[in-house]
Amino acid sequence: MWIDEDIFLIDHCHLGRPEIIASYLVRDEVPALVEVGPTRTVERLLRGIEKAGMDPRDLQLLLVTHIHLDHAGASGELVRRFPHLKVYVHAVGAPHLQDPSRLIRSAQKIFGDDLDRLWGEVVPVPPEAIHVVQDGERIRLGRRTLVAVDTPGHAPHHVVYWDEERGDVFTGDIAGVSLPGVHYVRPPTPPPDLDLESWSQSLQRLRLLRPRRLLLTHYGPKGDVMDLLDQLEERLYTTGRLVKEGLEKGIREEEIAEQVKALAAQELRAFGGEDLIERYDIASSYLMNVQGYIRYYAKRSGGGGSPPS
Ligand SMILES: [Zn+2]
Repeated sequence: MWIDEDIFLIDHCHLGRPEIIASYLVRDEVPALVEVGPTRTVERLLRGIEKAGMDPRDLQLLLVTHIHLDHAGASGELVRRFPHLKVYVHAVGAPHLQDPSRLIRSAQKIFGDDLDRLWGEVVPVPPEAIHVVQDGERIRLGRRTLVAVDTPGHAPHHVVYWDEERGDVFTGDIAGVSLPGVHYVRPPTPPPDLDLESWSQSLQRLRLLRPRRLLLTHYGPKGDVMDLLDQLEERLYTTGRLVKEGLEKGIREEEIAEQVKALAAQELRAFGGEDLIERYDIASSYLMNVQGYIRYYAKRSGGGGSPPS
């Protein structure tokens, strides 16, 4: 679907569901793909590029916002098929694209036996195909220039890509999950790297860019930017408080996740039915989000951290 004369939104139809994971093809002198999605849906991605009237072999750059498998999972597979591609990634994420073993181990902890069904194979990206993107780096595509902006909080290896001239920001996960037609945004807070303070700082950085439009990976273009960012930040902390109170009362994480889901159901009722609650769960699981907060609070109370993944 064209969302501008030169930006084509590709739907990965993750698990057969529309409008959960997006990639954005920027058709310019240097054609670039923002977000590559998981390997599991790579054929659909390539068909999407063809639908935009482009031969996938002409693609030049893969710009990933961070290395989570729903955003960058297919990088290695795409470079395997088209070795001239360059993958733009944050310095903290780059080693894990080159050697995904720790990334896979971390994902296995979260997804268990479901890992392959959900995301498919994670192929290493050869070092010569990796470009470590710097904060403030200008990526000239032709008519469009994108600026990489460090935006940690969801993960330390997160950047957004900002089109200063047109006011578009490709937000990855830092501007949350907000499905089409719903003015409701949720923070995806999976373990192990959630950091609320950095997230708030990143949101402030986003506000200062004064974006006209946010291009979310989950899912699609969003206007009413300041309201969306405020709503996201508020929910980031209200959910956190709910998890913290649950932990203090000794409630199990599954039960806390049910409470978070019940609250979301209440809030989402104005926009639609059960289907919407479930689609938000697929885009960013309630249980996984609760586990992210638990890990964050454990780290802060001296429970030990872990290397980024
Ligand atoms: Zn993510």
